[in-house]
Amino acid sequence: MHVARTIIETRVAIGATHWAGDTVGLVPTMGALHEGHLSLVRRAREECDFVVLTVFVNPTQFAPGEDYAQYPRAEERDLALAEAEGVDLVFAPSTEEMYPEGALTTVHVDELTEVMCGPSRPGHFDGVATVVAKLFSITMPNRAYFGEKDFQQLQVIRRMARDLDLPVEIVGCPTVREPDGLAISSRNAYLSAEDRRAAPALYRALLAGAGVASRGGRAEEVEETVRAALASEPRFQLQYVEARRPDTLQRDDLPGPPLVIAAAAYLGTTRLIDNVVVEKDSPR
Ligand code: AMP
Repeated sequence: MHVARTIIETRVAIGATHWAGDTVGLVPTMGALHEGHLSLVRRAREECDFVVLTVFVNPTQFAPGEDYAQYPRAEERDLALAEAEGVDLVFAPSTEEMYPEGALTTVHVDELTEVMCGPSRPGHFDGVATVVAKLFSITMPNRAYFGEKDFQQLQVIRRMARDLDLPVEIVGCPTVREPDGLAISSRNAYLSAEDRRAAPALYRALLAGAGVASRGGRAEEVEETVRAALASEPRFQLQYVEARRPDTLQRDDLPGPPLVIAAAAYLGTTRLIDNVVVEKDSPR
């Protein structure tokens, strides 16, 4: 497995891969790898000849006051896991390599970034879109793999790729959960034992909302159901729950699916997000 620290090294290795006619699959991460990340790597490994994993804690996607400094970092372990999964190249650049002084360009996706996590995380999606655009430019993937766990991020990236005619197929992968339903996240490590016990209530509340959606409920009823279900777990501080059309993240007056039901909530100082997608033809 090749570990590259510089853009030029990465371009040379991947250029040779394309030259040989092989397809390149990209899995962008911020490291501290867990089963969610590894599910993306495995999917890429199945579908592509050459798998690139990027490990970069991107400072521009953390709003002021967020956990950039405390974000878990575990490079040695990440490299061992990547190697065991058959990753071909890890791109793990420094902040200076990715953001040399004087950069003036930001990628902004409108509308999709103004709802759900947008208002509470100013600048977050610009940071994500910009770093992912840079990673696409550096690694030239045929396919790039993202988790549905971060549903809004997935839709923002899909839209960016479409609007900028980026020659990459965006592949969304299902959320990997703990046996009790909690979506796996690097931030789960911050939870106290009591908060960890309470945490699966978020997914259960979303499933209650999904039941209402699949029976033809309106977005407001779905959201009210989730709020009511989560109220039984007083440790949660709900930030938002929103039921929206999955592709546009907009609202309309028609009842029932397709809907993405997404929520963000604090347990102590840890912010959890999760979502459930109810497809149009889901069983009632
Ligand atoms: P992160 O390191 O948190 O930026 O995540 C890197 C990628 O892994 C993103 O595409 C996430 O959506 C995805 N991911 C994170 N957690 C999960 C999970 N539990 N299941 C599936 N994908 C995930």
